[in-house]
Amino acid sequence: TPAVEVRDLVKRYPKRDVNAVDGLTFTVEPGEIFGLLGPNGAGKSTTIGVLTTRVKATSGAASVAGIDVIRDPVGGKRHFAVVPQQSNLDRSLTPRQNLAFHAAYHGVPRAERNAKAAAMLEEFGLLEQADVKVDWYSGGMAQRLMIARAMMHEPKVLFLDEPTTGLDPQSRLFMWERVRDLRSRGVTVVLTTHDMDEAAEMADRVGIVDHGRLLALDTPAELTRRL
Ligand code: ADP
Ligand code: ADP
Repeated sequence: TPAVEVRDLVKRYPKRDVNAVDGLTFTVEPGEIFGLLGPNGAGKSTTIGVLTTRVKATSGAASVAGIDVIRDPVGGKRHFAVVPQQSNLDRSLTPRQNLAFHAAYHGVPRAERNAKAAAMLEEFGLLEQADVKVDWYSGGMAQRLMIARAMMHEPKVLFLDEPTTGLDPQSRLFMWERVRDLRSRGVTVVLTTHDMDEAAEMADRVGIVDHGRLLALDTPAELTRRL
């Protein structure tokens, strides 16, 4: 079973008379890092939105881990996690509490939650700042915390929407390493970026999107060779 399958996907915003996604088709294999590359407004976030059940598709098919997320959005949610562009951390909770709360929500047994949260905080370099106010976090720390949180219920597929936008170079490099770690653990990663270098650096395969359509889909090496 592919990790992600998108077929003839269309998302239309009638009031704006625009197809944000205009007939996209692609497949992501298990364990792959797949990059959606394109300029602002290309339809990358909308595609992620449909796959993560936040956006209602106009037509076409989309599945994650073999589950049709359009027909069965609740069933799909067990198998993926998503890190949005804008922080949606709970500011009334500490970072550690954010992870524990998410784990509880996803049915991780009480006895495992704290140890798991500590392990994730350590992996993402946040253990020292686990009990401060979330407001105190920089953009890069918030990004890392959201990924750590997303991993609490061990999703098969992780969607990252512009994971390094606004980060300083050092934080970007750290993020790239963490994403490679996830792949080595067998997590499938689908990320969006408008940065060609980042796509080439991180992704096993890259789909280039513009105006909701796929212009090319290949390995970074092959795409670079053809340019
Ligand atoms: P990207 O993530 O590649 O920057 P988006 O998926 O955010 O692109 O947007 C694709 C297109 O759809 C853009 O023209 C954008 O303005 C439009 N769009 C996105 N969300 C909405 C919305 N909720 N209502 C209307 N138009 C939207
Ligand atoms: P929802 O998807 O539930 O409508 P959003 O926060 O995405 O919630 O959007 C709220 C409204 O703001 C949309 O109905 C749309 O009119 C507008 N909007 C959001 N994102 C965009 C965008 N990228 N381009 C144009 N309009 C947008």
